[in-house]
Amino acid sequence: MRTTTGWQSTDGSTALQRVPIERRELRDDDIAVRVDYCGVCHSDLHRIHGAFGGGGTPVTGHEFTGTVTATGPAVNSFALGDRVAVGTIVDSCGDCAMCQAGQENYCYQGATSTYGGTDRIDGTPTQGGYSREYVLREKFAYRLPDGLDPAAAAPLMCAGITMWEPLRAAGAGPGRRVAVAGLGGLGHLGVKLAAALGAEVTVLSRTPDKADDARALGATDLLVSTDAGQLERARGRFDLILDTISAPHDLSPLLGLLALDGTLSVVGFPIGEIPLRIMDLTYGRKNLSSSGTGGRRGTAEMLAFCAEHGITADIELLPSAKAGEALDRLDRGDVRYRFVLDLSDLG
Ligand code: NAP
Ligand code: ZN
Repeated sequence: MRTTTGWQSTDGSTALQRVPIERRELRDDDIAVRVDYCGVCHSDLHRIHGAFGGGGTPVTGHEFTGTVTATGPAVNSFALGDRVAVGTIVDSCGDCAMCQAGQENYCYQGATSTYGGTDRIDGTPTQGGYSREYVLREKFAYRLPDGLDPAAAAPLMCAGITMWEPLRAAGAGPGRRVAVAGLGGLGHLGVKLAAALGAEVTVLSRTPDKADDARALGATDLLVSTDAGQLERARGRFDLILDTISAPHDLSPLLGLLALDGTLSVVGFPIGEIPLRIMDLTYGRKNLSSSGTGGRRGTAEMLAFCAEHGITADIELLPSAKAGEALDRLDRGDVRYRFVLDLSDLG
């Protein structure tokens, strides 16, 4: 076993404790990564609050960049010192229809989550990237493109790919009108990606004072989601809405904003029951959809696109010892637009 250090919620609170973490010795196709930067995702907060069920909280963190420090004998994609990026899954069966389609994230045997999962070979629980070292199969690490800042690129690996896949699936591009509901970690990258794809982008936000930011990110407009008049005037306007809202909310007002055959993709995890009126889909032949992060092919494609267009997250970088403070501020909506932890304070 290799022992490293990380930050963990040991009591369901955001007062994270510094803990030792056991990482496995490298298998033939494993790499060891010194974690340099790890983003703070709202899913980490949901997990710490017990919103996904399951007892206890693993070490969280599933969007990180780092440096290869060791390679197993069968590794051929990476060498010592390479900069890599890792996202929300670290293994899958490789054989099922989903894996064959490049959607390892939907592996029928269950993709191995970066934290809170179970290793397919030795059955040990996975622990996330709020830690100084991670060990994984090389197949699930990605070369970090030159030119992308490694701290600001870390959020691409969850927030970025979670926006990329539904944008691509819906054919977002020139002539298409895309709205992003909730301007947070996911949402701000959704705006940047959709705009770079050539779509006309609008932000739907409960926070009017994000309007200048929305425009700077590439949106043409921000509609205040609590203003019934503004929503009424935007009725039928969008081909695609990416709903990244982290709290329970009524889908009906969002469905009302869709054009004929438009799609509402609910990619936030608004924990709890969400009522749905089928008639809201009927009138306008509308689609309700969702998706979860992305597969290897889409992730590689997204990273190449971000490199080409110079897209990274707008971040606030904090020493990892402030992870708890970052989570508390995220809970209050006090983030513009992603916290990233610098793990170098773990030695
Ligand atoms: P975030 O940075 O906290 O952003 C969420 C945004 O939602 C906030 O900035 C806010 O935007 C809006 N919001 C929050 N509470 C709200 C409320 N009560 N009513 C209306 N709007 C509210 O979170 P994130 O990291 O982007 O994650 C967003 C959600 O996606 C979380 O539920 C997370 O678990 C989920 N997620 C899903 C996947 C996936 O694979 N599907 C991947 C990652 C994360 P405004 O101030 O602009 O309104
Ligand atoms: Zn995430």
